[in-house]
Amino acid sequence: MEEITKMICITCPKGCTLDVTHDGQVVLKVDKGCKRGAEYVQRELTDPRRMVASTILVEGGIHPLVPVYTEAPFPKPRIRELMVELRRVKLKAPVQGGSVVLADALGTGINIIASRDMAED
Ligand code: SF4
Repeated sequence: MEEITKMICITCPKGCTLDVTHDGQVVLKVDKGCKRGAEYVQRELTDPRRMVASTILVEGGIHPLVPVYTEAPFPKPRIRELMVELRRVKLKAPVQGGSVVLADALGTGINIIASRDMAED
């Protein structure tokens, strides 16, 4: 059934509010915004993803946690599961910023990356 949904595009800092006419996952029309906004809407209806930033425990480091991020947008419905998985991981200092601290998270092919160095205490 055709319906109109307001969606906020998060592709760029303008954050346009788009009026999306769609039938389930099929986009029929996007009012306002640009071509990238229309692409965002299509993705959001079929395979929504987000970049995720969090922290992971580090043993023997100068701080107990190191900040980490997904190297690519992660499937939105599985973010809660990812957070549980990240709580299970324990690293050992030193940790190098930019290194993969968890490969192929939840079998998605997306690696988790340390966003800074964590030296030994
Ligand atoms: S619709 Fe285009 S201009 Fe608007 S937020 Fe999305 S990418 Fe930016």
